[in-house]
Amino acid sequence: MPETFPNRPTKAIIDHTALVENVRSIREFIGPGTKFMAVVKANAYGHGAIECSQTLEKAGVEWFGVATLEEAHELRKNGIASPITCFGSVWPGQETAFFEHFVIPAIFSLETAKRLDEAAAKCGVEARVHLKLDTGMGRVGLRFDELEGFLQAIAELRHLRITGLMTHFAAADDLSQADFTGLQIARFKSSLELLRKAGIEPEVVDLANSPGAVVYPESRGKMVRIGGIMYGLGDDVLPREAPGPKLKPVLSLVTKVAMVKRINVGESIGYGRSYTAEREVTAAVLPIGYNDGYCRALSGLSDVLIRGKRCRVLGRISMDWITVDATAIPNIEAGEEVVLIGSSGDETITAAELAGISGSISYEITCGLGSRVPRIHIK
Ligand SMILES: *Cc1c(COP(=O)(O)O)cnc(C)c1O
Repeated sequence: MPETFPNRPTKAIIDHTALVENVRSIREFIGPGTKFMAVVKANAYGHGAIECSQTLEKAGVEWFGVATLEEAHELRKNGIASPITCFGSVWPGQETAFFEHFVIPAIFSLETAKRLDEAAAKCGVEARVHLKLDTGMGRVGLRFDELEGFLQAIAELRHLRITGLMTHFAAADDLSQADFTGLQIARFKSSLELLRKAGIEPEVVDLANSPGAVVYPESRGKMVRIGGIMYGLGDDVLPREAPGPKLKPVLSLVTKVAMVKRINVGESIGYGRSYTAEREVTAAVLPIGYNDGYCRALSGLSDVLIRGKRCRVLGRISMDWITVDATAIPNIEAGEEVVLIGSSGDETITAAELAGISGSISYEITCGLGSRVPRIHIK
């Protein structure tokens, strides 16, 4: 983004006070004695990983979680010194970079364990790894019922040390599947026993993501891995029926009106002419589109806020523009402020509301904000 000329007014505002408040609120809800891993993968769910991690480290979170080595490296380059676990794979050739940048890989196969052991021997270091178990997610993770064989096989690997045991819940956000989450917790507990019998006492033990940490106290272990709710994305992540911490949305998405125009009866708006005016409309054209992450599936269905009033998107969302119905806003002019996610007056539009319309979840809405949307960090 060139800094020599004023920016387009489409911006994501990141409220660091809300971020720190959410961490404090979640910690208070969970109670003392549990470490807090801040999950900042995917550019901190679209919020800006570097700036958010710097704030979170100052606020005292003990650990960071990322999805790729590249994400971890980005944090290290920007001064993050806390332990980092990388949930993604150790792709062949990445081994020494993990050691160099003190990034702990979550591993889930014997092949990777052997490769890391061999690389560690060559570098004269110890490869510290977290073992990721599949207790029912059916995604990456060593099958819990293959742990015993795995432990026998790695016993001879002298340069590899398991310092953490983790698993991931498939449905902790759904109380009707509480039995299944219970089963995952039970499988994890017996796996931990097996590990201990093999003489391995992991420094961290972690099962819980956001809904796990809030809803299942027995899943909190020695550490919780918190992503969504830390960013205030609680609405569609936590079951409504269960008590939870007070959360504030961290991100708002704003822009300004680029153009106001009259649309006469019978005239259409946008690609495909999917909207035709049945009355005279005052339309406001906004400089945001699907490339900014305002997804096309919201066409004709979502609202934006102008002066605290909801204004409906009219016609198709295009790559760079949307048009909204501003008939109810007297004397509206170009330059008027618009909120697409966030609050204006007494009205609020959440990422979860947009996700509900587009058939997704709030995480995908914030992750999906385009790279040309500057993140403005308010500290
Ligand atoms: C993304 C992720 C989390 C965080 O989940 P939230 O629901 O955002 O809290 C935790 N653990 C693992 C392994 C993850 O991949």
